[in-house]
Amino acid sequence: MPARIIDGRAIAEDIRGLCATRVADLVNRTGVTPGLAVILVGEDPASQVYVANKIKACDKAGIRSFSHRLDAAVSNKVLIDLINRLNDDDEVHGILVQLPLPPHIDMRAVLETISIQKDVDGFHLYNVGALVTGTTIFSPCTPYGVVKLLEHEKIEIEGKNVVVVGASNIVGKPLALMLMAREATVAICHAKTRDLAQFTILADILVVAAGRPNLILPQMVKTGAVVIDVGINRLPSGRIVGDVDFDGVRAKASFITPVPGGVGPMTVTMLIENTLQSAERLANAQ
Ligand code: NAP
Repeated sequence: MPARIIDGRAIAEDIRGLCATRVADLVNRTGVTPGLAVILVGEDPASQVYVANKIKACDKAGIRSFSHRLDAAVSNKVLIDLINRLNDDDEVHGILVQLPLPPHIDMRAVLETISIQKDVDGFHLYNVGALVTGTTIFSPCTPYGVVKLLEHEKIEIEGKNVVVVGASNIVGKPLALMLMAREATVAICHAKTRDLAQFTILADILVVAAGRPNLILPQMVKTGAVVIDVGINRLPSGRIVGDVDFDGVRAKASFITPVPGGVGPMTVTMLIENTLQSAERLANAQ
């Protein structure tokens, strides 16, 4: 039987609906409206689309957004001063700096300036490091979205062999830590891994985040495996595909995420969730 398709769009829609209800409840109870500050530096077209999508999704959930568009030539100091002001602003519960930043900007210094209490992207060194000890305040949105998809489908993680293909700081590595925290046995593969298939074939849960179309073929996947495709690749034809040969692997797997419509919609959803959690935490502390 072909794998069950995990409908990330529908799951994301459900979670966003629940978030909207929680936002309304928070406003009624405390008068606090969750607020997200979004900083975009420069005119990168893809970043502009991502930022517009995030603002639109926040709006729909009842989260106020504060958009800050800065010239590509902005100095480190101006950017850092802005973040410091947002750190002190009670109406702002989450601060997001859209990456990538222009090369003259010290990205680490910028991310480290964001208050760890408002770091809804989870990229501050504290939140990254705290994934090791399980004390993170905010999990990074894409790995968090993958975990939510698995939980939604009631896919057991504890004791499972998980292979994560891709070891970036924003997807592969944090996801591996989050799955280890849920008692999985995790292997991480990357571009220098020799004979990728000898690892992937052992996976009960295979997560692929490499950005290489058709990297994962059916013969590399164990029968009955759960396959989560994080990759987003635009083919010369304009078609968007993931990293997995979807049709081939679907015939062998038990669950599979499509691209588009799998992990993608979950990333923005977890940003909403993190911003809302931040506002709830702050309101409850008052
Ligand atoms: P990245 O920073 O380029 O990292 C890619 C990782 O994949 C690296 O660790 C790299 O290994 C590894 N890799 C590359 N080619 C490989 C190969 N042939 N075999 C095994 N590993 C290989 O990318 P990223 O930001 O993590 O994103 C990965 C993919 O996910 C991209 O397609 C991106 O568009 C997508 N993405 C999707 C979402 C979403 O919301 N769905 C969010 C973020 C990213 P090395 O470390 O050795 O170079």
